[in-house]
Amino acid sequence: MLAYTAASMLDALRTEASSCTRCALSKTRTQVVFGNGHPNADLMFVGEAPGFHEDQQGVPFVGQAGKLLDRLLAGIGLTRADVYVANTLKCRPPGNRDPLPEEKHQCEPWLFKQIELIKPKVVATLGNHATKQLTGKETGITRVHGQPQQAVYGSTTVTIFPLYHPAAALYTPAMLKVLEEDFAKLPVLLEQELEPVASLAELLPAAHEPEPAAVQLGLF
Ligand code: URA
Repeated sequence: MLAYTAASMLDALRTEASSCTRCALSKTRTQVVFGNGHPNADLMFVGEAPGFHEDQQGVPFVGQAGKLLDRLLAGIGLTRADVYVANTLKCRPPGNRDPLPEEKHQCEPWLFKQIELIKPKVVATLGNHATKQLTGKETGITRVHGQPQQAVYGSTTVTIFPLYHPAAALYTPAMLKVLEEDFAKLPVLLEQELEPVASLAELLPAAHEPEPAAVQLGLF
């Protein structure tokens, strides 16, 4: 019998995404920045969208924000090879403008499928765009950072952990301090066993795939 591993299915999904034309960003991108890292990572990061360097190299978080992410990871004894890193948008918005609602909507299935295949315990959302997209709520990052929430994507239950975006923290020392404090909570969260969320899953409409159901966890 053929064994489909998360790695092989992620590779297949990457190949499919590489020719995506679901939104107009396909006309201006250099390449799709699908995501990279460990295909079975317990910890996944989701940023906003590729910038100039990411668009050139095809890898997320390779610029200054990525260097800060690497430093924060080292602080909790991890490297990029231990985690998976992706973005809400797989293609660079021209001039690094904010993602448009239609772009996020069209790109969302790629991200949700990545989460379903990787099955991370914790998805750390970096900044407002990823946090709102993955919690399905409009509450901004200033209010929810450092507060874990449980969410369900298809058959996968994860803990969403909102963090300030490293690019914002680069230029705001007070924000960097908060980001470092929140980051330090990640090892505890990764040890935490998730409570079964059967009752939550039952609340979801049967044909409902992408919309996450999020509940606040009282861990900290
Ligand atoms: N680089 C990325 O890949 N994503 C961001 O959100 C910022 C920089």
